[in-house]
Amino acid sequence: MTRSPFLLDISDLLGRDVPSRPVVVETVVDWKLEMSRVLAEPPLVADLTVGPVPGGILVRGEVCCSAEHVCRRCLETFVDDVCEPVTGLFEADPGEDAYPIEGTVIDLEPFLRDETLLGFTILPICDESCEGLVSTAETDLNTDSPGESDVTGSPFAVLRDLLPPGD
Ligand SMILES: [Zn+2]
Repeated sequence: MTRSPFLLDISDLLGRDVPSRPVVVETVVDWKLEMSRVLAEPPLVADLTVGPVPGGILVRGEVCCSAEHVCRRCLETFVDDVCEPVTGLFEADPGEDAYPIEGTVIDLEPFLRDETLLGFTILPICDESCEGLVSTAETDLNTDSPGESDVTGSPFAVLRDLLPPGD
């Protein structure tokens, strides 16, 4: 079983008054939303500082990745390079806004995935000046007219005959 690159042993930090230490995670991820996904190339890089705070572990830093979005206006995909500041609290007994510490290990993946995806715009637009679909493309998309030629034998042809006209 491959160990996740996001698993971090923090036994040296737990409950101790020690300075924070840097942690860099560079890996390929498969994180996506409906209209956006993180690309595999280049790999995602999380440049973090991990240190003890009362009751837990604080992780701060920056995540950089390339993301591919589908433009809400023209439906073309476009790539956007993003870097986002991230802050996360890990606790052995996590409250609402904290992530769990499991023994002496924290899993950075849910935290970094949440922070990265939350940073994506919900309505991606390739360019402010994007005009959206041009009318000819829209026409092209809607020219399929079932019931002509070769679908006569399909079960849908029978169904259509059963439906009242106009539906
Ligand atoms: Zn567009």
